[in-house]
Amino acid sequence: MQTSKKSLFDFAIIGAGISGASCAYFLNRYGQKVVVIDKDKVASGGSGAAGAFLSPKICSNSAYTAFINEAFEFSIKFYRDNFDLHLDKAGILRLLKTELDLKKCKLGEEILPKNFKYLQPKEIKNLKKEACKFGGYFFKDGAVIDSIGVIKAMLEGIDVLEALHVEVLRYEDGCYKIAGIEAKGIILCVGNSEDFEELKFLGLKDIYGHRVDVKSATKLPFHMHKSCSISASRDGIIHIGATHIPNYKYLIQKDFKKEIDDMLELAKSYLDFDGFEVLDIHFGKRNSTSDFYPVLGKVINAKETLKKYSYIKKGSKVPKEKYEYYPNMFVHSGLGARGFVVAPKTAEILAKNICDDGQIDKRLDTQRLFLRYAKREVLI
Ligand SMILES: Cc1cc2nc3c(=O)[nH]c(=O)nc-3n(C[C@H](O)[C@H](O)[C@H](O)COP(=O)(O)OP(=O)(O)OC[C@H]3O[C@@H](n4cnc5c(N)ncnc54)[C@H](O)[C@@H]3O)c2cc1C
Repeated sequence: MQTSKKSLFDFAIIGAGISGASCAYFLNRYGQKVVVIDKDKVASGGSGAAGAFLSPKICSNSAYTAFINEAFEFSIKFYRDNFDLHLDKAGILRLLKTELDLKKCKLGEEILPKNFKYLQPKEIKNLKKEACKFGGYFFKDGAVIDSIGVIKAMLEGIDVLEALHVEVLRYEDGCYKIAGIEAKGIILCVGNSEDFEELKFLGLKDIYGHRVDVKSATKLPFHMHKSCSISASRDGIIHIGATHIPNYKYLIQKDFKKEIDDMLELAKSYLDFDGFEVLDIHFGKRNSTSDFYPVLGKVINAKETLKKYSYIKKGSKVPKEKYEYYPNMFVHSGLGARGFVVAPKTAEILAKNICDDGQIDKRLDTQRLFLRYAKREVLI
């Protein structure tokens, strides 16, 4: 990994998780000169804690499910074509929880990624009988990605600055100036960081969680998910994820022993572990929007736009071209619980939008969250 020289960049990307790495990768492919900055280390945020299961969404035929499954197909191909070494392609078995799940899955089959097969309970091997009583869907293309390895690989050949906490975005003479770096544009890939007032209007929420690495002699030949995920065993190690802890900041309890124990008990109810030694517990946060779609696009100067067009608060329409924006500043965030599934697809859309006038679907762009923010403002 290189360190940055003092020079002018097209974009400074703040945040070196899967969001920032994906943006850097695609902008670089478009010939943009980028630098990636992180207050800590590469993949030190939620991305480093993730189990990084690449799993489709099932049991629903909603537009959101279709979006996730398109992103799944895109990302599997993307990782295979470019970062195959980091991909554990054992396939993923999604066990159903109820009889109703099976009905819902059948209805939504047309938006499932290709290469799937419904398995009857008696066809499922390696797992406890009781856990499989409604059968499951096996996705041959399902995988687990080595989260830290793939992010480092995506950033190869790209300038990276670690241990640089960006607190102020100073824009002067057509450039952002950050600790000796000059960049014509900024991409904020910081999740729900409190450092940036500019992102408040997105109303992002955090859900914290744990992944546990376990040593066991049990050999599971595929990845699986029911109410928690269990990876295939590699060199005697199995990853189990993840807990879901909203409102972490307001919780006094610090060790989350109960949440972790509950998750491990669930895993034990699916798989007979031959030896079970906890090697490591990873903790991090996911961030998501109120409608769960990721958010990407130009950063709206929410306060100035509302000052100029206060009637937006009451629902009057103003074309988004007339909004006030921070100069050449973009965001790529709200990746939720499937950041590794979604980020390659959404980063490609953003890079195409910036470099090639590509459109951002209105379900993904910043405007929808701004309009919700404007409505909230009128209620306060
Ligand atoms: C326990 C757990 C399990 C998960 N399991 C899966 C899974 O199985 N499959 C899946 O696809 N996804 C999974 N996820 C979700 C996935 O990890 C997230 O969606 C993804 O990591 C979000 O990536 P990000 O780059 O937006 O955020 P992050 O990885 O958190 O990166 C943000 C970066 O910004 C940096 N930063 C913040 N503020 C500043 C600043 N002011 N200056 C400089 N740098 C700054 C941080 O240091 C951090 O490195 C899981 C998440 C968790 C926590």
